[in-house]
Amino acid sequence: MLNQIACQCCGLNGMKVIGHTGEYEQFLCESCGYVRFFHISKEVGHQLYEADADYNDDLVVATDYVDLIQWNHKQALKYLNKKFPSRDVALLDIGCFNGFFVRKLLNSGYDAIGIDFNNKALNFGKSNYGLEDRISNKTLKQLLSEGSQFDVVTMFEVIEHLEDFPLVLSDAHKLLKPGGLLILSTPNSRMFWRPDLDFPPHHLSRFTPKSLASCVVRLGFTPLLSLEQTSTFDLIRNYIGSFFRHKDRKSMRGGEFRSKSLSIFLRRIANKSKGLWYFLLWPVDMILHVIGIRYIGQMIIAKKRAV
Ligand SMILES: [Zn+2]
Repeated sequence: MLNQIACQCCGLNGMKVIGHTGEYEQFLCESCGYVRFFHISKEVGHQLYEADADYNDDLVVATDYVDLIQWNHKQALKYLNKKFPSRDVALLDIGCFNGFFVRKLLNSGYDAIGIDFNNKALNFGKSNYGLEDRISNKTLKQLLSEGSQFDVVTMFEVIEHLEDFPLVLSDAHKLLKPGGLLILSTPNSRMFWRPDLDFPPHHLSRFTPKSLASCVVRLGFTPLLSLEQTSTFDLIRNYIGSFFRHKDRKSMRGGEFRSKSLSIFLRRIANKSKGLWYFLLWPVDMILHVIGIRYIGQMIIAKKRAV
């Protein structure tokens, strides 16, 4: 039944089965490189994330919202600050987790709200980041029925988790004002080393830059900027981290850490010092990038096409 499915990115028919990961069948689009994991009966819901050790650890590790700001958020802010110096734009962050980027946007002078289905993370952000009236578990359909409209919609590391990301992107398209911007980041399928977190049920899709671009074009956007990350620091951090995990697959990123208190301590240090490491390793990253090594993110900024 699943042998003749269309690619969710470029739309071409006939994705091929290329293997299995646990109970998931792995499909590949040979045209754009998109990879999809399908499970016949299992649905990914908010309970999976609210109960997950890794997502709950994130709330403990990052008591300060700036600790969760990553490469993708920085790139987005750089673009937004240049494009909207007056900051008078309305932004929606889909899959905002505890609202750390909404907090960052608000502090930078933007009018921002966020939505997520992880109620535990939302409650954390409301209590700790002062986001009571800024983040909620509203659905995109609710926002659409309220007639909400935005100048910018951001989705960082979200689409790879979703069963039906084209539907979510179509709703994002409807929520954007004419000419509005979609800012999307997701892991790069071309990553140099694949950590356990890039498997189902955590990630259901893998995107090449080509598949991501095909996807947004098909859904009514015009790509403006495409970026691929090369970060030696993130590669080393994730590689070392994998040795500290129980390989029992009891957490979605590849098993719970063996020593919770030690891993939280080390992750806090890594987060606090990452700016320094990015700076020190910048020449190495540049050289590796030129020879084609990628790790771990990619981003696309696209404009809503006039219809
Ligand atoms: Zn495709």
